[in-house]
Amino acid sequence: MNKDRILQLLKNEEYVSGEWMSEKLGVTRAAIWKAVDALRKEGHDIRSVKKRGYHLEPPQDALWPACIRKGLNTQWCGVEIEYHDQLESTNTRCKDLAREGGVHGTLVISEEQTMGRGRLNRGWISRPGRGIWMTLLVRPRGMMPERAPALVLLAAVATAMACERVSGVEVMIKWPNDLVAQGKKICGMLLEMGAGMDGVEWAVIGIGINIKGNDFPEELQDKAGDLAGIAGREIERAALAREFLCQFERLYNQYCLGGMSAIYTLYRNRSITLGRQVRAICPDGEYLGVAQDIDEDGTLILETQDGERIRLRVGDVSVRGVMGYV
Ligand code: ADP
Repeated sequence: MNKDRILQLLKNEEYVSGEWMSEKLGVTRAAIWKAVDALRKEGHDIRSVKKRGYHLEPPQDALWPACIRKGLNTQWCGVEIEYHDQLESTNTRCKDLAREGGVHGTLVISEEQTMGRGRLNRGWISRPGRGIWMTLLVRPRGMMPERAPALVLLAAVATAMACERVSGVEVMIKWPNDLVAQGKKICGMLLEMGAGMDGVEWAVIGIGINIKGNDFPEELQDKAGDLAGIAGREIERAALAREFLCQFERLYNQYCLGGMSAIYTLYRNRSITLGRQVRAICPDGEYLGVAQDIDEDGTLILETQDGERIRLRVGDVSVRGVMGYV
């Protein structure tokens, strides 16, 4: 048991002292030494570095918190990172953390999700090591629940910017929060929240980015893509997660100071939905129309052929291009 906990601590920080681990786990220094020795014999590359402590050498493209934190200079975003090899859903875990008092800016990451979810109760394919499956916890102050979808639009802009910076590929947003590169969906998001009398208490923003392949099933082959495949080069997942945390913090701070309008401008500039003929798939049927605008709470305004304006809320509509996915 100690061994698992020690591995976890070593994945969390680049260097961990034996003394700190023994305090944290409530065992002796000798017990730590013994466990480290056993881990080495199992093949874990644990190095002892003078004055700094133990260091576990990560494999290529590891998404460990220690790798994401290297060079991360955010104030609050990703200051707590919880890493798992496997989870049913990072959103589910992050909601538990939110209810247990988890701090604003906590990130949950898993190498694999066995029951990844999209909007409208759909599944999200999240194979081990093939992408970044993560959920960010935020605690907005004084936000009414109907305004919360704005958070996921903000996240879409932040993720698009991060993907673009790291891959060099142009990334657009399909309303409300699918990221699209070269006509393929590379990322989806799912917002969930808890609210009380004073508004939103917590919101969790789940983000799934396809990085390399993902063994898409037949029906998704035309629609889904992965960033490395599209960019034609390897993408370092930890660098992308780090860039996302930086961009998200920057935009969120901007929103706290000046509201959403500047962020909506960034969103509109990346939208592949606005100005297009789209098909909206709603619980009560389908509508065809031209996407006109996005208002302050993220609602999409669609104008149908007979000039009727329909307001589509983020939570309950899928939008598709008339000829295909975008
Ligand atoms: P929508 O496409 O209607 O906006 P979501 O954003 O909630 O819906 O995404 C869920 C849908 O995305 C699923 O129904 C499935 O078609 C597709 N999907 C599932 N896993 C992936 C994936 N890893 N990459 C791209 N698309 C996926």
